[in-house]
Amino acid sequence: MTLSFRSRLTVWYVAVLAAIVAGLGVFVASRLRSDLVDRVDRALDSGARQLSSAYRTEGRPEFLDQSTTVIGSLSQRPAGSQLVDRRGRVVAAYGDSVARRPMLSAAERREALLGRRVRTSRRLPGNDDRFRVVGRRVSRSGDTRVLVVAQSLQGVDDSVGRVIDLLVIGGIAALLAAAAGGWWLARRALRPVARITADADRIGIDRIHERVAQPGSRDELARLAATLNRMLERIETGVAEKHRLVGDASHELRTPLAVMRSELDVALLDEGLDDRARTVLESTREEADRMTRIVENLLTLARVDEGRLELARGPVSLGPVATAALAPLHQMADAKQIRLELRDGDGATEGDPDRLAQVVSNLADNAIKYTPPGGRVVVRTWLRNGEVGITVEDSGPGIPAKAQAQIFDRFFRLDAARARESGGSGLGLSICREIVVAHGGRIWVNSEEGRGSSFSFALPGAT
Ligand code: ADP
Repeated sequence: MTLSFRSRLTVWYVAVLAAIVAGLGVFVASRLRSDLVDRVDRALDSGARQLSSAYRTEGRPEFLDQSTTVIGSLSQRPAGSQLVDRRGRVVAAYGDSVARRPMLSAAERREALLGRRVRTSRRLPGNDDRFRVVGRRVSRSGDTRVLVVAQSLQGVDDSVGRVIDLLVIGGIAALLAAAAGGWWLARRALRPVARITADADRIGIDRIHERVAQPGSRDELARLAATLNRMLERIETGVAEKHRLVGDASHELRTPLAVMRSELDVALLDEGLDDRARTVLESTREEADRMTRIVENLLTLARVDEGRLELARGPVSLGPVATAALAPLHQMADAKQIRLELRDGDGATEGDPDRLAQVVSNLADNAIKYTPPGGRVVVRTWLRNGEVGITVEDSGPGIPAKAQAQIFDRFFRLDAARARESGGSGLGLSICREIVVAHGGRIWVNSEEGRGSSFSFALPGAT
């Protein structure tokens, strides 16, 4: 079981407090007991002194007589006194029935006979209470005996028991209060951490300019937030540098590619070319076109990421845009024996013709790429309900329903191996979406697996 940090903090807090309360309880109870037993000892000692002097001067009757006073004055009952001879026989006893049998063990009796004072706590036969028993040596006319005085410790045990009960009840109440307080405190203390976590979770590469909220305090949490923010800053710089590099590189590649394409066009105009050379040049021209599309896509991507996808807006007619976009693709379609058709229903809008041609080019390029030889790709321009748009329909493999929602995401590829083989990078459709959205339009796909796909985008019509 994994507990949350907050629960662990509370459990630790309560456990430490429980150890402190328990330690304190044991200390208080044992201290109270030893104080109360000390008091009992003092009373027993004084009683034993009184009885021993009575016995020394007047003998057994006086011992019994004085016992009435001494045992009567003891605050806790049952109690009793006795005289034991050297062999352990009780020669005189007064008070509770426990005093009729020897209250000291043989070893304790011997100790007392050596002149040492004996003090012990024990249970005595004939009573359920624990007793405090004090013994001392007394001599009279050369005869040495042991005088024993005892009283019940029940009062002490009761008092200590009551205090322990109170400590347990009070301790449990204190622990419950501490658990609730600890839980609340932990939540309060961890709230900034939860906020920083939520902020950090929200910041993806698309919101890399955002920062986690800095707590107002000047503590560890503030330092954590500051460290995260510095890290985000470094990542943002790195990402910006990467965008700039991609942007610059694709920009630099544009001119040589344009030169290559026009030189190939010129070379292909030569009627004296032999067939093999023409085939090679045509294939090279096709690859140069494809490379141009890739470079354009990379450049668009870099612009979008740098937040400066600029549109050279003007009145646009979708028919000519589609014609221009499809021109370089006919050769590729022919090579795969795919019929590439344009059905121009026309539609006028406001936009950047080059960017819109890029969208058509990406959609048609995909359609030709993924449709098997002998298939058909139809590009239609349309005008409907105040919207203009283009639909690219193919007779290819189609797209499974569950993938359709992700198809416009960056780097999403249905079948990575197949897409790599056909030179796909998973960027084409995401760029189409960026361009269409920048024009205030929308893009979508209708597809059924095995029955082809139809990609469409719609833009607000010209007013
Ligand atoms: P790619 O460079 O891989 O073609 P895209 O973003 O253009 O990247 O397309 C993403 C994925 O969508 C492709 O990898 C492919 O699996 C699928 N796809 C796109 N167009 C079609 C289509 N006309 N028919 C079938 N699958 C398609």
